[in-house]
Amino acid sequence: MDYKKYITVVEDWPKQGIKFKDITTLMDDGKAFKSAVDEIVEFSKEKDIDLVVGPEARGFIIGCPVSYALEVGFAPVRKEGKLPREVIKVEYGLEYGKNVLTIHKDAIKPGQRVLITDDLLATGGTIEATIQLVEQLGGIVVGCAFLVELTYLNGREKLDGYNVLTLTEY
Ligand code: 5GP
Repeated sequence: MDYKKYITVVEDWPKQGIKFKDITTLMDDGKAFKSAVDEIVEFSKEKDIDLVVGPEARGFIIGCPVSYALEVGFAPVRKEGKLPREVIKVEYGLEYGKNVLTIHKDAIKPGQRVLITDDLLATGGTIEATIQLVEQLGGIVVGCAFLVELTYLNGREKLDGYNVLTLTEY
């Protein structure tokens, strides 16, 4: 499916010069959304996945229907201060400042095979931090799946050695 037909490019949002890829128009279309989820489920089969992990907020939108279809659990990765119990955290740099991502300490058991999902791969900072959280808890990252890849930002360089699926590229 040509997912670009369903994604809206919003000029100068959230700031001047950014062409934001708005996936809400894809989610609005039942057939397009189902097709995207089905492709990720297909990619995940035969990988013996135990758990899906996704960063807030759009990683939840993609990850939860995939976990439902695979009949495995979903563990959220959230910004600092959002998860109620004991967490581990990872800091990563942004263009200006830093971000902190957290996951519940008991969300993953050592040796569990994990699929990570997010809507979009840009510089790779978010996925790299999410991988670190999973691996610190002893999880094995067996795949990373995204709807969109912004190839000009070279996020893939941070994913060397991982099995990566992206459904459309800009
Ligand atoms: P990265 O950490 O790879 O630079 O950025 C990816 C993260 O930022 C993802 O969690 C994604 O949701 C968000 N993001 C960055 N740019 C865009 C965009 O153009 N569209 C959408 N939907 N998300 C974006």
